[in-house]
Amino acid sequence: MIPETILFLESVVMGKPGEYVADSTEAITRVEDLPKPKILGRSRNYRRRRCPQCGRRAYRLRRVERTLHDLGDPISGRPRDLRVTYSQHRCPKCNVYFNADMDDLALPKCHYTHRVVALAVRLVVEDGLPYRAASWHLWRDHRVFVPFATIQNWVEAGGKKG
Ligand SMILES: [Zn+2]
Repeated sequence: MIPETILFLESVVMGKPGEYVADSTEAITRVEDLPKPKILGRSRNYRRRRCPQCGRRAYRLRRVERTLHDLGDPISGRPRDLRVTYSQHRCPKCNVYFNADMDDLALPKCHYTHRVVALAVRLVVEDGLPYRAASWHLWRDHRVFVPFATIQNWVEAGGKKG
């Protein structure tokens, strides 16, 4: 074989020319040195919403904020957070309190968007990654930090439903 071919084959086996580059955050030991998230605003803030129980229009009582961790920005390598401003309402008839609907973004009480949950579950269920490896993968390649126990909860919750 001519030397170039051998070099080429070696490079395929060794994983070059896509040379190994360590994750830029690998040597970081202090949380405050990690890349700062990009904050994107989202609004689910309305003057009136229909009551989920009786369908009556209910005025806004107050405005609240909630932060959701989304998949990070692969270009800048920074995490991405959605700051959702949403309205809370009270139905005058049922006296029930409810939030403006944001089920398209995340499940209630969840700190992560649907996209993050779906990807994390896929890494474990489809790709067979252990929870800790899935957690590291999400940080390294998608710049979202999810504790492995949280991923485990999502997978087990999904398994019960399925
Ligand atoms: Zn009502």
